[in-house]
Amino acid sequence: MKFSPEKPALTGETLDSLTARLQEQGEPVFRARQILEWVYKKRVTSWDDMTNLSKPLRTWLAETFDFMPATLVLNKHSEDVTDKLLLELRDQSLIETVIIRAPQDGVGIDHSRKTICISTQVGCAMGCVFCASGLAGLKRDLSAGEIVAQLLQVCRSEDARTPRARMELASFDNIVVMGMGEPLANYDALIRALTILNAEWGLGFGARRITISTSGLVPKILKLAEEPLGFRLAISLHGATDEVREQIMPINKAFPLAKLLPAVKTFSEKHGRMITLEFILIEDVNDSLEQAKLLRNIALDLHAHVNLIPYNTVEGLPWKRPSNTRQERFADVLRAARISVTLRREKGHDINAACGQLRLKTEKDRELAAV
Ligand code: SAH
Ligand code: SF4
Repeated sequence: MKFSPEKPALTGETLDSLTARLQEQGEPVFRARQILEWVYKKRVTSWDDMTNLSKPLRTWLAETFDFMPATLVLNKHSEDVTDKLLLELRDQSLIETVIIRAPQDGVGIDHSRKTICISTQVGCAMGCVFCASGLAGLKRDLSAGEIVAQLLQVCRSEDARTPRARMELASFDNIVVMGMGEPLANYDALIRALTILNAEWGLGFGARRITISTSGLVPKILKLAEEPLGFRLAISLHGATDEVREQIMPINKAFPLAKLLPAVKTFSEKHGRMITLEFILIEDVNDSLEQAKLLRNIALDLHAHVNLIPYNTVEGLPWKRPSNTRQERFADVLRAARISVTLRREKGHDINAACGQLRLKTEKDRELAAV
């Protein structure tokens, strides 16, 4: 499902594609780099700020490209450690980008670490039964420009917070692709966006600090393993047996553990880096000691880090998080095997916290307003 906007987004252009487009207009080769520098390094907010371009060129650019395909509608700064940016796209779709001031894969709390969580689709088609993002199915894929725009909006909101010290994206520690949507189901736009984020002419953010989370699209995991940029991988496992996983994640029918785990192994062998297994703890679904032991075996085999996430309740869904004692019992099985494991309970600390819920609420409010 694609949305065809009137004009392509400037934030979806690579140095090569923009150079080619400008050369058709008779512009010199260096022009594209000049424009991208205004966008990503100086972070201007309008074409007219690009003062070393001629007026006719600025007019042509404005007619040809959409400067910023995502508008900030709400910046929800919370008491704890998350900021949520609600962004509106050209077709009025809403997406969420979250800033978390806490570690993602380290142990302990260090508020100086900052992570940005980005979305790749409006809604999601994967239908995991516990997830707010997939409740209404997939509306559409995001374009590369819409994915990159989320990061630029984060930079702008941080610039506004500390106006004197212009924020550099590099001052963030991690980008995690864990917002709304299944990133690997929107593969080409994802890779194009991450390439722009990573490029020296773009936002210059290191690939090794970018983590892609997937519910387990096996062919795309294998494809990702072949990409030249070494992104990190997180797998939403949530069940250590097919029986449990299948109950909550329909994708397990197409790609059961016997297919998923070897693909993950191929990926981690190729990259030589630790991958992360995400495991949401849901009461009486996957929180038994038996599941913990099987997860331990999988993590040992893959030499993986395990991120245990107490389930965040979603309005209208029946699932609950287990008691703290039960969570600890589960984590202890992994710790005893010297597996690197994170279990965070503090409100809002994990990026999964209510991802997609701000959007759902705003959409509901809009529906009510329309009645
Ligand atoms: N579609 C991708 C990435 C987005 S979801 C994926 O599934 O991996 C990011 C993470 O949030 C996933 O691990 C997902 O299972 C988890 N998640 C979804 N709903 C949640 C909830 N209510 N509580 C805790 N984690 C949740
Ligand atoms: Fe989609 Fe991920 Fe939610 Fe599953 S957990 S429905 S794959 S966003």
